[in-house]
Parts: sequence; C-alpha cells; structure tokens
Amino acid sequence: MIEIDGSEGEGGGQVLRTSLALSVITRQPFRLFNIRAGREKPGLGQQHLACVRAAQQVSNAAVTGDEIGSRDLAFAPQGIYPGKHRFSVGSAGSASLVLQTVLYPLLHAAGESHVSIEGGTHNAWAPPLDFLQHAFLPLVGRAGIQMDLWAERLGFFPAGGGEIHARIQPWAVRERLKLHERGSVTLAAVAYVANLPENVGERELGIIGRALNVSDLRQERPGGLGPGNAVCVFARGGHATEVVTAFGKRGKAAETVAKEAVREMKAYLKSGAPVGEYLADQLLLPLALGAGGSFITLKPTLHTTTNMATIGRFVDVEIDVAEHQGLWCVTVAPKEK
Ligand code: AMP
Repeated sequence: MIEIDGSEGEGGGQVLRTSLALSVITRQPFRLFNIRAGREKPGLGQQHLACVRAAQQVSNAAVTGDEIGSRDLAFAPQGIYPGKHRFSVGSAGSASLVLQTVLYPLLHAAGESHVSIEGGTHNAWAPPLDFLQHAFLPLVGRAGIQMDLWAERLGFFPAGGGEIHARIQPWAVRERLKLHERGSVTLAAVAYVANLPENVGERELGIIGRALNVSDLRQERPGGLGPGNAVCVFARGGHATEVVTAFGKRGKAAETVAKEAVREMKAYLKSGAPVGEYLADQLLLPLALGAGGSFITLKPTLHTTTNMATIGRFVDVEIDVAEHQGLWCVTVAPKEK
C-alpha cells in the first residue's frame, strides 16, 4: 500500500486526482492521509469526492473514508472497466477535473469509453472547457491520446448545471512530445454571458480588444442555470495554443474580469514560453505515461513540483527541470515501457 501525506507540497486536490489515476493504471492501492490539511475547509470536498467516485466506478475499487470532510482515504482498484460511464459533480464543481481523473485509466482500458459528466464547465481553479479543447487536447493528441470532447450544456459558477461528453479511445501509439517553441501567435477572445445583460460581454470584449489589439472577438450567450460569466483569451501559436480565463461573479465588475484576462495573457506573451503554468502541471501525466518528452515553460509552480513528486510515487520516471535561457525546460523520461 502506497502511503501519501496529502499535506505535502501544494497540498490540494491534485495529489488526490493523480493518485487515483495512477493507482488504477498501476493496480497499486494507496492511502492518502492529511487530505487538504492546510486548506480552509480541510478534507474531501464535493469536488474531490466526485473524483473518488468516478475513479471507483471505472476500476470497481474498494474504498474507505469516502465522505465529505474525510482526511483519510484508502483506495484499492480491481481493474479498468471501459464503456459508458456517467458522473455528476453536484453544485458547480468542475466537470473537467473529474474528466482528467478518469481519462488516464480509460486510455489504458481494453476498449472505447463514453463518459458523461454533469457539473461546471468554466470554474475558477480548474481547467475550463475551452482550455481542455484548445490548449490541452491538441497537445496530448500529439502524444497519441485520442479523445473527442464536447459540451451538451455549459455550466458556470455558482449554479453549475453543465454537461460534457468525452469519447476516449485506448491509447494505441505513444509518441514523444517536444514543445520548445511557440511559433507566431494570433489572438482571439470569447465572452460567455449566461443570463446576464449583453453589455457585460460587450464591455469585456471592448477592453480586451483594445488592450491586446484583438479583432477576433465573440460573445456567446448560453442558456442554462443561473447567471454566469467567463472570458477566455486564446493565443494560437504554430506549435501550441494557450487559453487564459477570467471569471465573473456577483459584485465583480466586467472591467475587472477583462483586465485580469488581459494581464494574464500579456504575461504569457511576454514570457515567450510555449507552455503556460497550468498546462505545465497537466502535461506531466500524459508524458510520464506515454513516450515522454520535453517542454519549455515558466518557473514551475508548486502544483507542478507536487505533481512530479506524486507521479514518482507510482511510476518509474525521471523528471528533470532545468533553467533554459530565462525559462525552464521540463524533461520527462519514463524508465521502462
Ligand atoms: P488543484 O488546485 O490541486 O485542485 O488543481 C487545479 C488544477 O486545475 C491544476 O491542474 C491547474 O493547472 C488547473 N487550473 C487551475 N486554473 C486553471 C485555469 N485558469 N486554466 C487552466 N487550468 C487551470
């Protein structure tokens, strides 16, 4: 049984999700204690429990400690079961994080899977759907991962109520991924304005258009539950796309939302790195489980270094981080295949 102290490093939900995925793939049971010990509401939240239940469903795992607030979880998978799976996060928890938990196990299954997840599609502190579709999937696709991803309904904080679908093929051919250059970049932005006045999106896109000199601006007005607002700015490079997202909420001015997105995109553009900070922590698993590779990114975050440590608990892989002309080069070399 692998024992993991959940308070180490970043100490958030990612150590749980990475452990669940790798436990199923490697058939090694684990115990996670001190779960989210340093957080305001320690222990498993609804979001985390949804990930546990999803991993349990695809692996028929024996689980103890799977309740809200639990700080100690034990998980013992039995196998990997592809096919149709349906999960629900409840509240406006992130559907993307549940998807990223079951994606890697199902890539290692014997057959195709169709996964449906109810929850939020654009949540703070999680990869928004646009990020998965435009930044994450094209890159992991180059590592040989085949997944179609689409939304039935979008869901925003605080009401949620979105639904996404993913069709996942077994991972047949693993390719090395090398991402050292960005290529020339074109920018675009979309403002999602759900059950709020149209001028919210107009003001946001006006600021983004002027500050970043972008003319490819689009407002989308999805229906669904409750009010919600998010803006995504896309930097489409020849070799990689970055998506930065800022989220609206009650009492936060549209101008503030837009300026956050502008600031984050300007920082990305100025850095010259092809891989942004979020993508960096999310590329570690596909590279460690695939044929490895390397990418140039910003200074690794605590999320990234914690994820490296968690991956090292389950699989034999060498992950090296080296400074590279003011940026950082992350190299992932699986030891045996
Ligand atoms: P955790 O905080 O441990 O639950 O992990 C959050 C995950 O969501 C990490 O993989 C982050 O890279 C990812 N993430 C958070 N915010 C964003 C964002 N704005 N865009 C893309 N990914 C994000």
